[in-house]
Amino acid sequence: MKHYSVFILLFFIFLIGCEEKPESTVESGVSLELAKSRKEIISDINYQLLFLIPQSKKQPVEGKVKIHFRLTSNEEDLIIDFNANLENVKTVILNSKKKKYRFENGHIIIPGENLNEGENHIEIEFIAGDNALNRNENFLFTLFVPDRASTVFPCFDQPDLKATYDLKLNIPGSWIAVSNGAVLEVDNKTNSKIYKFKKSPLISTYHFAFAVGEFKKLTRTKNGRTINMYHRETNKEKIKLSTEDIFNLHFSAIDWMENYTGIPYPFNKLDFVSIPSFPFAGMEHVDAIFYRESKLFLSESATLEDKLSRATMINHETSHMWFGNLVTMKWFDDVWLKEIFSSFLPTKMVEPIFPEINQKLNFINTHFPRAYLIDRTVGSNPIKQKLDNLKYAGTLYGKIIYDKAPIVLAKLEQLISKDSLQEGLKEYLNRYEYGNADWSDLIRILDKKTDINLSDWSKTWIEQAGMPHVSCKYSLSDDKISSFSILQDDIYKKNRLWEQNIEVIHSKDGKVTRYPVFLDANEQIVKELEQADKPDYILLNGGGFGYGYFELDSFSRNFLLNNVCEINDAEIRAITYITLYEDLLNYKINPLDFITSISCSLEKESEKQNIPLLLNNLRKTWWYFLDTKARSDLSFNIENLLFTLIERKNDNEIKALIYKTLSSIFVSKASTEKFYDIWKNQKQLYGLKLSETDYTNLAYELIVRDHKDHQFIELEQLARIKSVDKKKRMEFVLPAVSVDERTRDQFFDSLKYYENRQNETWVRTALYYLNHPLRAKQSIKYLKPSLEMLGEIQRTGDIFFPKNWLVYTVGRYNSTEAAGIVTEFLEENPDYNENLKAKILQFSDLLFRAEEFEGN
Ligand SMILES: [Zn+2]
Repeated sequence: MKHYSVFILLFFIFLIGCEEKPESTVESGVSLELAKSRKEIISDINYQLLFLIPQSKKQPVEGKVKIHFRLTSNEEDLIIDFNANLENVKTVILNSKKKKYRFENGHIIIPGENLNEGENHIEIEFIAGDNALNRNENFLFTLFVPDRASTVFPCFDQPDLKATYDLKLNIPGSWIAVSNGAVLEVDNKTNSKIYKFKKSPLISTYHFAFAVGEFKKLTRTKNGRTINMYHRETNKEKIKLSTEDIFNLHFSAIDWMENYTGIPYPFNKLDFVSIPSFPFAGMEHVDAIFYRESKLFLSESATLEDKLSRATMINHETSHMWFGNLVTMKWFDDVWLKEIFSSFLPTKMVEPIFPEINQKLNFINTHFPRAYLIDRTVGSNPIKQKLDNLKYAGTLYGKIIYDKAPIVLAKLEQLISKDSLQEGLKEYLNRYEYGNADWSDLIRILDKKTDINLSDWSKTWIEQAGMPHVSCKYSLSDDKISSFSILQDDIYKKNRLWEQNIEVIHSKDGKVTRYPVFLDANEQIVKELEQADKPDYILLNGGGFGYGYFELDSFSRNFLLNNVCEINDAEIRAITYITLYEDLLNYKINPLDFITSISCSLEKESEKQNIPLLLNNLRKTWWYFLDTKARSDLSFNIENLLFTLIERKNDNEIKALIYKTLSSIFVSKASTEKFYDIWKNQKQLYGLKLSETDYTNLAYELIVRDHKDHQFIELEQLARIKSVDKKKRMEFVLPAVSVDERTRDQFFDSLKYYENRQNETWVRTALYYLNHPLRAKQSIKYLKPSLEMLGEIQRTGDIFFPKNWLVYTVGRYNSTEAAGIVTEFLEENPDYNENLKAKILQFSDLLFRAEEFEGN
């Protein structure tokens, strides 16, 4: 039967082929070529949109769009993006008449001869695709970045065809709605209501958004500006603790940006929506920012780090209203251009909000370790990447954009001065407001403000991946340095050079001397250091803003490993922690010695901001570079140390930070029982109050350690959770944590179906436990299929999902066997998508390093 149908199909294809010459096909997605050709001829776009949203997820969302636009030429066929199936298109009416159209690879194609040069309008009735609608039982939210608007409705889905939107939503009677435009009127029907929104500002398709459902609305007004928050949080304590802070952070972010850019808030209103399990931390839809609920509403046990990261996130999304929304990149290859400012400026914006925070230290501790995480790997990518088709835009995102880019911008600011950068940015925003611009447009403006050749600078820092390896050699005579030189080479032996300012520290008997050096050669002599005393240590990146792997000489390394905890200056300690960790990854330090050094530092570290850095290094070393026996041998000392620190520290935030690490690394029987008692009796830990989320996570940690009462733990914790959203989340995650291997196998198999992966934050938590190092022996069988699924994950998931998928699959392993599976997969797929292959290499980097340790 099967073969028979194929023959009939082939026969018809043959017949069609004979009748007329086959028409050229449009490739799926939005290719750069298509985007360029449309930009040349299409303008003045307006979408009049209506969506009928039923209560039940099972019923389809129907829609109607009327697209008004101007065309300067009708020589070519018009291509409208609608990334759904032919059956989803119900009617197409062009300029009030039914006309012929074709449907190809997710595009509606209108023959050019039927179009007017000048004004046109097309009306299309359609069934919306569900993917980007994120339909939940009591709410729904859109997420269209980068090219997902066209999976829901027919449009020109590219960032440089900005349009206005007139939106109507027909929704269930008990729901409310929010979108880019303010609500114009609400028409109540018997079982439903129709929301009509004011015309939106001129925005890109990826900025268009709406959320509907059972949300609560809160409003605050300050200095004549009103902001609305929509949320579903049920925990009264969290609402009370967080609400005013959340509003105030938005008000202050707007004030700061208006002041810095000299441009008043560029749109009409600002609303934001707090969404449970929103896949990103936040998304900057014009006038309607969406956030993940858990990032906004913090509990009493929230740390300073949590609060700072919430403030940074709100500042990040708000600053996008200027950088990204008012001026948008022409194409997603410049997506970093909006992210670079929205990651860099918040570091300035949080200064007045957190006067107690050392901002320089915060910048170093946040951005450098994260940027190195990717940039030290063979799979690293430059800040500016190539992009031929928008369907691959999701692969461009990552730590290079969010963490290396702000470092590079800080370097640029240092190079051309703060004032010049600010003036240049003002000019850039004013010149391209409500339009699009790319990196070269900005460089042209900044170039006028400096003698430095910025396009050369850009080649090194923006267009080239990776980081330098910087080391030094010196000789001594009579306890004095007789010669000192700094060497620079390329980790990946491509003969590249990174020119930059660094500050070398020479330290002797606690006396620190700083030597500024401009690095611009493979080997350069530093005359100033000659005749200096024989040092206790030399820290090449003593200033903290040098970018690269700064290898310690062996004397300095030994000294710092044993004495870093005695150094007085908190910044030097932070830089040393980062440097020692890079040395560990480059096999210069034994993991056991490294743990000993961290233990000493944890005991003595007086700077709160340095503690996350130490704990992070501890966690990574613990799970990647120690084997089961080493962990077990060390567990008594390390676990006791962490318990003692929680007991001893007076600061609740520090207690909470240490608790988070301890509750994720404990392996001893004694600690397991201690945590079981805390969980069972919902006890505090030495005065540290745990939240419901903490107890849920603790339940997972106990089950993953095969606790004998695992069944009771599952049922009891589920019964304790009151919020419907949170209960659902736990029900989803539990099979992945189960002590029963078959249940876990079934869970993994279920992820092969798209509908089971829709809630990506749930999947992440589930994968975290499914591939937990304590389960590695049984779960390694999931590794190869996980890699095989990556292509589909990229096609169907949101922009950060491929990365997260890898972090919680391949990124959880440390064995030779796992390394072999990754290598074999890459060898078996020589033509694999380049960007995805790079991602695999990025997130298996620690695995390959761990393998090397194992081999040593
Ligand atoms: Zn952003």
